Amino acid sequence: MDNNSIKYDAIFLDRDGTLNPDPGYISSVKDFSFYPFTISALQKLSSLTNHLCIVTNQSGVSRGLIKKNELEKIHSYLIESLENENISISGLYVCIDLPGSNSKRRKPSPGMFIEAAENLSLSLDRCLMIGDSVHDILAGNRLNMETMLVLTGLGHKTVKNYSSEINATFIVKDLMKGAEMLLELQNK
Ligand SMILES: [Mg+2]
Repeated sequence: MDNNSIKYDAIFLDRDGTLNPDPGYISSVKDFSFYPFTISALQKLSSLTNHLCIVTNQSGVSRGLIKKNELEKIHSYLIESLENENISISGLYVCIDLPGSNSKRRKPSPGMFIEAAENLSLSLDRCLMIGDSVHDILAGNRLNMETMLVLTGLGHKTVKNYSSEINATFIVKDLMKGAEMLLELQNK
């Protein structure tokens, strides 16, 4: 690969509402499916970074709504499905802590990103965070990352309710439009 095309140390991806529809507390593999554009979008994003990482808040586990082994099955399925499409995920970071628990890991706290930075030797200010919720963009803002708000999942609510609190570098219709836009910027 042409090394000039590598723009980001890592691209961090939220899961629910970014990669897959979010009906709320997905508790079984049969309830998990990617958006139709996700695979193709991730293939495009792969060309812009050395590492794709997933960072996901899953408080449903602590709430007793999702069994830990089911979450692991969902994530094995997710990783395998992407590997089958030649998309490699460098790290999948999960936080099961409840909101209001003073968690150092639950987004918008930086814990999961710091773990990834240590594991993969990343400079977080050369990374991009993509997500649909205020927590995703806030986490990125606090760590001086570029941020992309997708208008899938909670995206529209996020714009409506939090636009004064967050500073998204990019706001796009969905992950696919975001990937296309970044590639266009790169080719200019
Ligand atoms: Mg989300």
